[in-house]
Amino acid sequence: MLPLPVLEQAAAEMTNYRGSGMSVMEMSHRSKVYLEIFEETKDDLRRLMRIPGSHEILFMQGGATLQFSAVPMNLIGKTGIADYAVTGNFSGAAMKEAGKYGEIRTACSSADKNHTYIPQQGDLSLSSDASYFYYCSNNTIFGTEWKYVPGTGSVPLVCDMSSNILSGPVDVSKYGLIFAGVQKNMAPAGMAVVIIDKSLAGDEFALTPKLMSYKLMIDSDSMHNTPPCYTIYILGLVLKWVGKQGGVEAMARAAAEKSKILYDVLDDSKMFTGCAVPSSRSNMNITFRTSSEELDAKFVKEAKAAGFDNLKGHRLTGGMRASIYNAMPVEGVQKLAEFMREYELKSL
Ligand code: PMP
Repeated sequence: MLPLPVLEQAAAEMTNYRGSGMSVMEMSHRSKVYLEIFEETKDDLRRLMRIPGSHEILFMQGGATLQFSAVPMNLIGKTGIADYAVTGNFSGAAMKEAGKYGEIRTACSSADKNHTYIPQQGDLSLSSDASYFYYCSNNTIFGTEWKYVPGTGSVPLVCDMSSNILSGPVDVSKYGLIFAGVQKNMAPAGMAVVIIDKSLAGDEFALTPKLMSYKLMIDSDSMHNTPPCYTIYILGLVLKWVGKQGGVEAMARAAAEKSKILYDVLDDSKMFTGCAVPSSRSNMNITFRTSSEELDAKFVKEAKAAGFDNLKGHRLTGGMRASIYNAMPVEGVQKLAEFMREYELKSL
């Protein structure tokens, strides 16, 4: 979901952005009116996430997946080695891609229990000669979330925050690089936000496509070519909305409240079981199942008929998944909880 007020404002400004006589879709990315949108969006993100001056904000195309390649192409050259924590599908895919560019070591894997948990700090196998340590802070498909920032000594931390960015405070100074595909908590699809410690840029492989070079993107302020102007504009509106709600702290409180409503249903239920172990439960993606695939399918069908869409779990996990990103109102979650309780009672 995107926040309704954002969609309404975008609609109101669609054909004539604030008296400019044109739509944001039609603007030159070098025009004064557009550059104001661009700079304000960056400033708002810096303020909301308290991004220190050591770090630059980049807007890059290719979604989060292109970062699976950009990260090793830019960062692994230092030692040729990187550590990867595999806690789900996307970190596994990122590790596989990185294997093209250097020696990749598995710092931990939760595959033994179908990614239902996040390993503890003491379970991480760390290489002191790694160029970076990579993890994914929220596992969108499996519904688990890291509740701590891995300690890696002087090895830079790289994190895929695609599905929980802006859902709570993050100490950006602890990270060498954060990236996120924008289509969950930030904007419509078509871009990744990259937050990079500038001192890490500049060691990319010579064959790195120029649009994937962090150094070039820093030097050109993400405008080496035409950026996804409209997506950046919507990101700006979403950031204003987050600010108005009370910032990332308010998002964290809302996420905790919303996810608790659904986890309470699961914990009280004899019909539904949560997939993730309680200590690793995601606040964004609540994964659960019944006792059989047939009953799962029946529930998904009846829920859809009652107006609850997109509850079918990912094909890798089966079961159900309720994605309750920032823009999902608490009322939506309460209604689903009510529906699940009634559905169970009715099925007894
Ligand atoms: N990482 C995570 C955590 C994701 O949830 C997703 C998409 N669901 C991706 C990476 C891939 O994102 P994209 O489609 O933007 O490449």
